[in-house]
Amino acid sequence: MNKLIPSINSDTRIAIIAHVNPDGDSLGSIMALGLALMKRSNQVNIFLNDELPGRYSFLPEVHLLKKYQSNEFDDFDLCFVLDCGDDRRFGDIDLLVKSKEVINIDHHVSNNGFGDINFVRTDASSTCEIVYSIITEELEIQLDEKIATCLYTGIVTDTGNFRYESTTSYTHKVVAELLDFGVNIQEITFNLYQNNSLNSTKFLGHVLNQMEIYFNGKVAIITIDQDLLKEFDVKYEEVEGIINYARDIEGVEVAVIIKEATTDGEIKISFRSKKNYDVNELAKGFGGGGHKRASGATTKGTLTDVKESLLNKLEKMI
Ligand code: AMP
Repeated sequence: MNKLIPSINSDTRIAIIAHVNPDGDSLGSIMALGLALMKRSNQVNIFLNDELPGRYSFLPEVHLLKKYQSNEFDDFDLCFVLDCGDDRRFGDIDLLVKSKEVINIDHHVSNNGFGDINFVRTDASSTCEIVYSIITEELEIQLDEKIATCLYTGIVTDTGNFRYESTTSYTHKVVAELLDFGVNIQEITFNLYQNNSLNSTKFLGHVLNQMEIYFNGKVAIITIDQDLLKEFDVKYEEVEGIINYARDIEGVEVAVIIKEATTDGEIKISFRSKKNYDVNELAKGFGGGGHKRASGATTKGTLTDVKESLLNKLEKMI
């Protein structure tokens, strides 16, 4: 088989990055690839500029994650960009400029094909599924329990516990192999789903109570501002997952959460759909992207303006 990734030795300087607001797939994939590449090179840097969300702190070796500061690092031979639909999604363009070869590994339909080497497979369930084949087939590096745990976490979170249509027989074959390396499902389930703070659970109840329903029950919208996060003392990252409750209501086709990301007017929008609507198109209208059934965008403005603009777009779509 022809290899796309240049050969890697102990001196190859490697950077690995993923998108801002990290989720299970981006964290699982950077950690899995990083741990695998460390078996070849002594110069692997796994960068994460956001704070590590608490629920993922169980992932093996996350103490290796470091912040990227352009004045601190020289150039890199290879820069692996994971789970990013475009080269602006991870925030620090400088790293790409400083790298001889940029390797784009992703599964978003909105991926714009940036980079020198491309592993973009829009039919893959997750970036972790692609990373699995890169590690085992392209790089021919042996998996171990830690790598398998990272890959499993990315796959289980991005497939909504194997419920989304992106889940294939191949996904299950990959997972079966990962389990043979000793992945502790019970431990992962506990950390991901059974350890929510009391505050975040009360917050969930509150925002679901405030949820607005439009277009004859087909659209559910939740808005969250910084004051509300402060009032309930929950972190921005703990909002992950709330949107699924809105999407899963009978009759709802599209669910949207509009969040005030910071106090300086940045708004993050998350979109989910069930069967009939392509929310990647909706996200594109706000400069974002993602998948047909799950997408997102970051924009500027007030919650009210963004909601109004969203309702106008939805009116044309629904
Ligand atoms: P989220 O709503 O943040 O969970 O994201 C849902 C999906 O949309 C994920 O696959 C994200 O990678 C993608 N996504 C979220 N925000 C953006 C953005 N600003 N631009 C492109 N894709 C995004």
